[in-house]
Amino acid sequence: MAEAHTTSKQCTICKQVLTLELFPKNKESKHGRRGQCKSCLNAMARKRYTDNIDREREKQKTYSRTYREKHRERLLARARALYQKNRVKQVEKAALYRAQNPDAAKKARLDYYYRNRDYCIQQNKLYLEKNREAYLARSRAYYIANAERKRQYSREWGRDNPEKVAKNCGKRRAALLQRFPQWADEVEISRVYALRQTMSDYFKTDFHVDHIIPLRGRKVSGLHVHNNLQILTAEQNLSKGNKFKCK
Ligand SMILES: [Zn+2]
Repeated sequence: MAEAHTTSKQCTICKQVLTLELFPKNKESKHGRRGQCKSCLNAMARKRYTDNIDREREKQKTYSRTYREKHRERLLARARALYQKNRVKQVEKAALYRAQNPDAAKKARLDYYYRNRDYCIQQNKLYLEKNREAYLARSRAYYIANAERKRQYSREWGRDNPEKVAKNCGKRRAALLQRFPQWADEVEISRVYALRQTMSDYFKTDFHVDHIIPLRGRKVSGLHVHNNLQILTAEQNLSKGNKFKCK
């Protein structure tokens, strides 16, 4: 039997005559080896994979997802153990990441906060209670260190945004008097204040935003809403003396 001594065979794909070791074992086949050589079979598998790359990737994703779900507890425990082991390094790495990706870090922090809102608020309270003195000292120091810078900034901002200053002022006064309802249309209110600014600039004279029905009338009190606002000259406003007539 010549075949018993055969140490090589021809590949059915590349037609090369190769030694038997280069063909995968298969009991059913001639010489106990497959008809295609390993390198041809590998090439076929690679081609099958690249031809169906999307399906293959999807398959891998599904597989790793189910794997993670199935072994969730074990994976978490392992990650925690690893984290503890490399804690210092991890903390440094995280700080570096936050410094390099401030926006992503902020988003992650907010996402975490919204997902765990009650827990965060409670933890924050506990932390503040525990570190009350340090916290107060820190915020006092920060306030003192930045007071001048802050004043400077708000002076500049006020100079650049006079219409917003006027609007905020009206809003603050209305809030103080509890005359600023939740349903007030802030966009419309902003428009009135912007218009006042445009008019003041254009006519080179001071216009005021006035509440048609005063916020603190003797008999009726108006609301801080856009249809209770009118633009008057400063003189008109100061001579008005809140004479809204009440029937
Ligand atoms: Zn071959």
